Amino acid sequence: MRIVLLGAPGSGKGTQATLLKEMYGIPHISTGEILRAEVAAESELGQKAETYMQAGELVPDGLILEMVEERLKQPDIRRGWLMDGFPCTLPQAEGLREMTERIGQRVDAAVILRVSHEVIAKRLSGRTREADGPAVVRKRIEVFESQTRPVFDFFRAHYEVLEIDAARTIDQVTEALRVGLDRFDHS
Ligand code: AMP
Repeated sequence: MRIVLLGAPGSGKGTQATLLKEMYGIPHISTGEILRAEVAAESELGQKAETYMQAGELVPDGLILEMVEERLKQPDIRRGWLMDGFPCTLPQAEGLREMTERIGQRVDAAVILRVSHEVIAKRLSGRTREADGPAVVRKRIEVFESQTRPVFDFFRAHYEVLEIDAARTIDQVTEALRVGLDRFDHS
């Protein structure tokens, strides 16, 4: 099963991704997590990415696409994968489409976790991650609206999309995902 999980910051993507990877026994590819590990390791990529991340801006598409392509070369992804936090720009979405076609993989399902602006603001202000100060949160919402929201329409045009109301409790959203994803599971 190959799943792309899309949603605004605060939509619960990370939480649901952790539960889904258990449910399907597939690796969870989180570009945010990979980047944080690169920053911690002080790698060349980490050093390049750090300034953007601290400002709540997106890391350039070229670096992200290269990083995801490397990840897709690892042997564990043969069982499938779950992407979270990627793609978050149109060039990344096009890059993923091109990359998967080239390596003969197909995206089975794209999930959009839908939440209102009020819910996003409430959830993000309750977060404790140190990188999420008020200015960074505002910036991330702005970046989401201008760069990531158009990706939803790209997926609606090219893939089968499952849209889930993510304003509900974690358990309710997980259950809706399980029921909804069942019909995409061809493995
Ligand atoms: P996240 O863990 O998804 O909240 O991501 C944390 C930060 O990593 C973001 O604010 C971006 O700076 C960067 N980042 C994560 N994923 C991407 C991506 N697909 N494209 C560009 N930047 C990303």
